[in-house]
Amino acid sequence: MVKLEAIKILDRDGEVMFRCPRCGKLFRKSKDYTKHVNKAHRHLFAKEN
Ligand SMILES: [Zn+2]
Repeated sequence: MVKLEAIKILDRDGEVMFRCPRCGKLFRKSKDYTKHVNKAHRHLFAKEN
């Protein structure tokens, strides 16, 4: 499970975007954000290693 909460921002069209608080990357879909966190920042949540 991802525990890193996205920063929600509005773009120029009023669409909600999700910003990663760790690296500042932007995503249009929360699903893509979740995928990114799991891939790039998974080690933050790992209990082993
Ligand atoms: Zn990130």
